[in-house]
Amino acid sequence: MQITFHGAAGEVTGSCFLLDTGRHRVLIECGMMQGGRNEKSRNAARFPFDVRGIDAVIVTHGHIDHIGRLPLLVKRGYRGPIHAQRATAELARVMLEDAASLALSDTERRNRARQRRGQRTEQPLYDLDDVAETLRLFQGHDYDEIVAVLPDVELRLHDAGHILGAASLEILAGEGDARRRIVFSGDIGPRGTPILRDPQPIESADMLIMESTYGDRLHRPRADTVAEMGEIFQRARAEKGKVLIPAFAVGRSQEILWWLAEHRSDWKLDAWRIFLDSPMALRVVELYNRHTGLFDPDARARWQGPDNPFRMPNLRLVSRNEDSMAINKLASGVVVIAGSGMCNGGRILHHLRHNAWKENTHIIFSGYQAEGTLGRQLVDGAEYVTIFGERIRIRARVHTIGGLSAHADQNGLAEWYGHFRNRPPVWLVHGEDKARRGLASRLREFHGAEVHLPAPGETVSVPRARSG
Ligand SMILES: [Zn+2]
Repeated sequence: MQITFHGAAGEVTGSCFLLDTGRHRVLIECGMMQGGRNEKSRNAARFPFDVRGIDAVIVTHGHIDHIGRLPLLVKRGYRGPIHAQRATAELARVMLEDAASLALSDTERRNRARQRRGQRTEQPLYDLDDVAETLRLFQGHDYDEIVAVLPDVELRLHDAGHILGAASLEILAGEGDARRRIVFSGDIGPRGTPILRDPQPIESADMLIMESTYGDRLHRPRADTVAEMGEIFQRARAEKGKVLIPAFAVGRSQEILWWLAEHRSDWKLDAWRIFLDSPMALRVVELYNRHTGLFDPDARARWQGPDNPFRMPNLRLVSRNEDSMAINKLASGVVVIAGSGMCNGGRILHHLRHNAWKENTHIIFSGYQAEGTLGRQLVDGAEYVTIFGERIRIRARVHTIGGLSAHADQNGLAEWYGHFRNRPPVWLVHGEDKARRGLASRLREFHGAEVHLPAPGETVSVPRARSG
């Protein structure tokens, strides 16, 4: 029995692993590569395996770097099942439809330029029809349910506490003496994230494939970050200003609402009008409301009562474009949470155009800003930026608050590993080399773990671990 590391080996995106039991082939994750100069051609490239030879697909969660190439897999001939947690199967619709729309508008823009130059036009990576075909293949499961994926492959999902529906995979593969327990961590969340449960421990494995995104770092305590948000609101109130929060539609937007609801009275937020201005985030809000059973007990209790953060009396969920535009007419006392999180598109752009030149505007960044994005320019302190072709002087105060990560830091990852009683050998993925080297030494030192850093394309035989 073998596993081949086709993606996220030495980088953070493009997760893709192939489990070959000898009888069947199971693809774990089919993620998109994000960032980097060759991103486009890498995503469009041939799959390094026979697509029609895949018997089943399993995905850990709905982020695009884990599911983004599924429609391409289907477009190229895959017709088998795609197994995932129920909420992930629903989130996949939101994420993949958005990815297809982005690919389409991006291709249309590039094709206009190509036509002007007399060049051939290109096709998008995939379209909404490919997405619809892909969504039909999804099979949603509950956490802890035993799923018969194939005659020689059984699956059990454990809550990974990363985003709604995120799971670690416990896979029993092979028959008789050759049977092995393989665990894919997926992305592991930090403990104490609001709304979500903490990552669930797993006790034994023959082989562990584990993420290492922040394997060499420690996060700032969440409480410090939240206190900093409070100070920003205090200043903005004194200056009669506005607060703009560029945020990712999945997870971050909902978490920000949670903190606003939690501190409504001490941050004197009742006097503010709060807008969640992102059609995609609204679809995710509906998803949360359908899956309150996955929440931690605190959040589940709040959803029943008046403290439901999605039902604050002064919160408006904005879906129509004209309502989004109308927010600009309000002079002060306004909080806008809008996408995209890195300001490389979405409604946050028109809010920035109307407000970033004002001294009493506060812009709060809470997530990673990739090179080349408008968000990165702003956090780097650009004096002028260009939005919709217009040069805008930046006089707003730009704040970068760390500490709201959806990933566990080195302590969290090491603690999660520590729950395995038999200390299985571990292959670190989903991290840049510096991060996975950092986690590797920590796991070796504290837990005596046997740690491997697989190279892209590397194939390893699934070992039999000592029992715990
Ligand atoms: Zn993720």
